[in-house]
Amino acid sequence: MTVHKIRLPHFKHSAESETIALPLPSRAVISTAQHLGAVCTPTVNIGDKVKIGDVIADSDAVMSAPVHASISGTVTAFTEVLHISGRNMPSIVIESDGKNEISDAVKPPVINSREDFLAAVRKSGSIGLGGAGFPTSMKLGFDPKEKHPDKLIINGAECEPYITSDYRCFIEEGEKVLDGALLMMKYLDIPECVIGIEDNKPKAIEKMRGLCASYPNITVCALKSSYPQGAEKTLIYSTTGRVVKEGQLPISCGCIVINSSTCAFISDYIKTGMPLVSRRITVDGNIVKKPANFKVAVGMSIAEIVEHAELDGEPDRIILGGPMMGACAFELDYPLSKTNNAVLLFKDSPIYSPSSCIRCGRCVRACSMGLMPTALETAFDMRDAKALSRLNVNLCVNCGACSYVCPAKRNLAEKNQLAKAFLREQTKKGV
Ligand code: SF4
Ligand code: SF4
Repeated sequence: MTVHKIRLPHFKHSAESETIALPLPSRAVISTAQHLGAVCTPTVNIGDKVKIGDVIADSDAVMSAPVHASISGTVTAFTEVLHISGRNMPSIVIESDGKNEISDAVKPPVINSREDFLAAVRKSGSIGLGGAGFPTSMKLGFDPKEKHPDKLIINGAECEPYITSDYRCFIEEGEKVLDGALLMMKYLDIPECVIGIEDNKPKAIEKMRGLCASYPNITVCALKSSYPQGAEKTLIYSTTGRVVKEGQLPISCGCIVINSSTCAFISDYIKTGMPLVSRRITVDGNIVKKPANFKVAVGMSIAEIVEHAELDGEPDRIILGGPMMGACAFELDYPLSKTNNAVLLFKDSPIYSPSSCIRCGRCVRACSMGLMPTALETAFDMRDAKALSRLNVNLCVNCGACSYVCPAKRNLAEKNQLAKAFLREQTKKGV
């Protein structure tokens, strides 16, 4: 089977910039919807004093992760932040007391069993730090009687241009990535692990190969640098040759995929008990004088973060995430969420108007999922649910490769997102 991929410029300008921990902000605006799944309900009231690591929102839903205070201070407001998805997200505002006090609840969890481990992962507030935001406890909480995975795959592909936060994690905290992998293998009884890293990151590959040398059941796989190598299904195929069928999860073919930074965070949490209150973020773009990686408190404003990278002018495009799968932010005064792995700032970036399809077929050749983006676009324009279903629109991973290669600059990937939502609606209605 041939999996189509495309070549992209790497622009990894911040790769050799050691992560700088930014000072804690005077104010944090923390969204209660930082993951895929249920929005959390605040567990604090206005006027409450909180310390770093205190739970401030949680949910009983399986598909959720608790949210914690990233600074110490007073809860001053419940507000709504206009999310890049276009929805208003309920958020909790904390004004700092300047003391940076850590909660008494922050202590290493006691783990003696699989159940203890899974409970600790949930309590940590861990979600996929690669950008998808899937709650980690949900991903790891498979029913071993139903399907037991035999491969843990650590996703260190980081195939989007500019972003180097996972790369810096390997370079600076490779030991933690390995430790997190060993913990998951031990408590979830997974016999083998593959760490997938693109071959444009030779130092990370070398470092992890050195660390894993005495573990015969852990291999470091140098992946061809191509896009979208880090998409879950593509990575599974590249590292194991297994295929995840439409509508199924990686566990269906015996795999669990965890982002490398998430893996390092789990190791940290088990050792310290400090939940997910900060993360590494890449700041880059054509007006950023000092492309960098920062360790930042969740809820800190992006405007405050980018001040540390020095801008050459005002951006006319702000992308949260990578240029392929990220989304444009309306403004810089936007709080950092657990899923933001990059902020990219550009000036004079071209805006293209789509022209007619010339039937060149490039979008089809670019699609790693073997879809026909041009046919999907037509089906969506006709609001033809049956055709969308027949053309497997739900297999689209929204990688953006089709839009990128299209000489007519058609918004193919964007349309697929709308098409999937349309199909969901029609399916609910029983059409
Ligand atoms: S966005 Fe979807 S249709 Fe387009 S190349 Fe990626 S997977 Fe294929
Ligand atoms: S790449 Fe663009 S122009 Fe070419 S077939 Fe696809 S939609 Fe049409």
